[in-house]
Amino acid sequence: MSFQSKFPDLGLTIFSRMSALAAETGAINLSQGFPDFACDAALLDGVTAALQAGHNQYAPMPGLPALRQAIAAKFGSQGPRVDADSEVTVTAGATQALYTAIAAVLRTGDEAIVLEPAYDSYAPAIVAQGAVPVRVSLAAPDFAVDWDQVAAAVTPRTRLIVVNNPNNPATSVFSAADLDALAAIAERHDLLVLSDEVYEHLVFDGRRHASVLSHPGLRERSFAVYSFGKTFHATGWKIGYCVAAPRLTAEFRKLHQYLVFSVSTPMQHALAAHLQEPAHWQGLAGFYQAKRDRLAAGLAAAGFRLQPSASTYFQLVDYSAIRPDLGERAFAEWLTREHGVASIPVSAFYADGRDQHLVRFCFAKREETLDAALGKLAALAA
Ligand code: PMP
Ligand code: GLN
Repeated sequence: MSFQSKFPDLGLTIFSRMSALAAETGAINLSQGFPDFACDAALLDGVTAALQAGHNQYAPMPGLPALRQAIAAKFGSQGPRVDADSEVTVTAGATQALYTAIAAVLRTGDEAIVLEPAYDSYAPAIVAQGAVPVRVSLAAPDFAVDWDQVAAAVTPRTRLIVVNNPNNPATSVFSAADLDALAAIAERHDLLVLSDEVYEHLVFDGRRHASVLSHPGLRERSFAVYSFGKTFHATGWKIGYCVAAPRLTAEFRKLHQYLVFSVSTPMQHALAAHLQEPAHWQGLAGFYQAKRDRLAAGLAAAGFRLQPSASTYFQLVDYSAIRPDLGERAFAEWLTREHGVASIPVSAFYADGRDQHLVRFCFAKREETLDAALGKLAALAA
């Protein structure tokens, strides 16, 4: 049989590779982003109760009504009015929501603008539709968006702009002026927007996250994507949701019903109950900010130059003072093998693999884990 790969350039993700290397070498894994602490016991009890109560068959295709209503109520308390029935779809993690939105709107030959550094799932999802990712790169240390450059990347074939706010791995957060600039471009060229907002609650030092859903110029033309994995320390559950105006949600659901149809029923019951209590997410920024500060202090003491960490659960560092001779991938591998701490090379978030001598550490870890990693890294300064 002759078989040609449809994706000859795609390999295993950097997250899978660095986690595997950490496991193989026994290194502390600060690479792939996931908490190493338990999620709330009440949430786990909620799943058990739902299982025992017999909630073990298909949920309705768009998601359990109680969960969609709880999601809409949560938005209402923060600002944007969201309709549970016509605007919220529960998905198998943010990843499926992103893929579904992209597949629902892009046709062969369309272009989608992607701001880099970019989360790794966007471009393959675009390419899988026969569409073309058009990259606009942002650079350290502040990764500010040059909106004139974004405007210049628009062509008659452009249909979608993909943004990630707050940004993994840059940790930058859009200002009101950023959203205005995005809206101006989208309105001028009649573009759709896909806004990955999975880190909405992990925003530090008094900053505030502003959603596309709160912006009048973006509300009707945007898909906004969220993940319970981030908000409730349960990345393995793979449950998220997409919020979009009724017209866009209707298109989204046409595909969603054939990609997964619906997602885990008992977990949706547990999440619906957990979302009733704002305290379950309101303390998240302070909780993670303390972890950021703990890791950052130790990394600075070990000789890394800290980049600002304004959001997410990641800290970027410049390692030039430690091993200027190594590229990012080589440095991340060397650090894992020789010093027992795994990180992610930031070049993995750029299509051209550009090297800024930056690696990313995840601080969604217990204090013991962070301290153990810092204990190992202290040897770099010795
Ligand atoms: N977008 C970004 C920016 C992420 O960092 C992640 C996961 N870490 C996702 C999407 C995927 O979320 P999920 O695990 O819910 O699919
Ligand atoms: N989003 C996680 C990160 O940035 C990884 C998720 C995955 O492995 N696909 O580390």
